[in-house]
Amino acid sequence: GAGQLFKFNTNSDIATGDGIALAFKVGAEIMDMEFFQFHPTALHLPGVTPFLISEAVRGEGGILRNVAGHRFMPDYSPQGDLAPRDIVARSILYEMQKTGSDRVFIDVTRLPPYIITTRFPHIYRFCLDHGLDITKELVPVAPAAHYMMGGVRTNSWGETSITGLFATGETACAGVHGANRLASNSMLEVVVFSKRIMEKTRKGTKAGVPDVTGGAEVHQVLSQRQIPKSIPAPSFAALQKLHWDKVGVIRDRESLTRAAGILAAWQKSLPPPTDRPSYELHHLVLTGRLVTEAALLREESRGAHFRSDFPQSSPQWQRHIIFTAK
Ligand SMILES: Cc1cc2nc3c(=O)[nH]c(=O)nc-3n(C[C@H](O)[C@H](O)[C@H](O)COP(=O)(O)OP(=O)(O)OC[C@H]3O[C@@H](n4cnc5c(N)ncnc54)[C@H](O)[C@@H]3O)c2cc1C
Repeated sequence: GAGQLFKFNTNSDIATGDGIALAFKVGAEIMDMEFFQFHPTALHLPGVTPFLISEAVRGEGGILRNVAGHRFMPDYSPQGDLAPRDIVARSILYEMQKTGSDRVFIDVTRLPPYIITTRFPHIYRFCLDHGLDITKELVPVAPAAHYMMGGVRTNSWGETSITGLFATGETACAGVHGANRLASNSMLEVVVFSKRIMEKTRKGTKAGVPDVTGGAEVHQVLSQRQIPKSIPAPSFAALQKLHWDKVGVIRDRESLTRAAGILAAWQKSLPPPTDRPSYELHHLVLTGRLVTEAALLREESRGAHFRSDFPQSSPQWQRHIIFTAK
C-alpha cells in the first residue's frame, strides 16, 4: 500500500507505494488511485503512532462525542455511530473543525468493563500501556489513512497489462473493492488472487498482452503542471503534510491543484535516489501524483473520494480512471 503518503495513517512504515511506482515506470496501467480509504477512528495521542480503534468498539455500543461532550453522529447520519467509514470520517473532521480541536472521543465508559476487557483485550491493553484506562476515560481518536483501493490494474488472475508482471495485495487493483472497501475484505486480494497467480504461473504464462479490461474507463497520462511560485522543500514530512492537508478526507479543486503543482515540482527537482529513504520518497511522490491527479479529474464524490466542490455522485463518472506512463 501507500498509507505513508499521509501524515496520519494506520499503515506500517513500508507502505510507501513502491509496487505501484515501479509498475507504473515499466508501463503498467494504474487504476482507481483517487479512492483512498480513511479509517475514522485511529487513536490520537501525542507521540503515539495512530492505532486502530476498530468499528467493533462502536458496534458494541461505543459512542462518538466531540470535545464538548456532544454525541454528534446522529446529526450527520440516521445510522448514527454505525454509519459507513467515509461518512463517519468526514463527520469527525467537520466536528474537529467546528470545535477547533484535533480530535473527538469514543466513549465506552458506560459499557460494563468486562465487555471491554474481554471483547477488545488488545485495544484495552494498548491504551492502558499508554496511560489510558478506556473503561473509565474517553478514547481520543481522529481519522487516518488506512487502505488504498486503487493500484496496479489486474484481472481476476492477478495479471497486469504487462506480460509476465503480476500484482496482488494492496498494491493491486482488480476492482473488487469498488470505491470503498468493506472492512476485512482485503484478505480477498491477499489470499484468493495470490493463490490464483500461483496457479496461473504454474501453467506458464501465455504470449501476448493479458486482457485486464472491464467496465467503462478514462485513460490518462501524468500531465505537465505549472509549477507554483512558492513550494516547500521536498521531504518525507512535507509530503505527508501536503497529502493530509490537500488530498485528504475532504478535497476540492483548489487544494488538489496546489498539491498537484507541488508534487510535479518535487518530481522534477528530486536528485536521483541512492538509498532506501530516497527511493521511498521518489516512489511516494510518484504515487502521490497518481492519487492527486486522479482525484482532480474525478469531479464528483463517490465512496472514499469526497470533493466538497462536487459533493454528489454523477452517472457520467461511473468509470475507472487509468494512468499509464505513455
Ligand atoms: C491496522 C490495520 C488493520 C487491518 N485490519 C484488517 C482486517 O481486519 N482485515 C482485512 O482484511 N484487512 C485489514 N487490513 C488491511 C490488510 O492488512 C492489508 O491490506 C494487507 O495486509 C496488505 O497485504 P500486502 O501483502 O499487499 O502488503 P503488506 O502486508 O504490507 O506486505 C508487503 C510486503 O512487501 C514488503 N516490501 C515493501 N516494500 C518493498 C520493496 N521495495 N521491495 C521488496 N519488498 C517490499 C514489505 O516488507 C512487506 O513484507 C488492515 C490494515 C491495517 C494497517
